[in-house]
Amino acid sequence: MFRLSNDFNQIDASLSKRYLILMEKIALRSDITLPRTIKISYCKNCKRLYKGNSRVRITGKMLKISCISCGDIRRILLD
Ligand SMILES: [Zn+2]
Repeated sequence: MFRLSNDFNQIDASLSKRYLILMEKIALRSDITLPRTIKISYCKNCKRLYKGNSRVRITGKMLKISCISCGDIRRILLD
């Protein structure tokens, strides 16, 4: 499902967004936690993939990803 969204991102951003929302809904309904790698690869605020749409900065043990389209900043603790 995520790969599908990833593929569509190159073609149509809005379609990719729809797939991400759908993927979240399915995960919620079936009680699955999405893998971390998937979780950190898209913006939770505007549902856009970070690929080519973000600024990543590493400060100490923190990974800061800022979304260019909505300005949302996510902090991820590196282990
Ligand atoms: Zn965003």
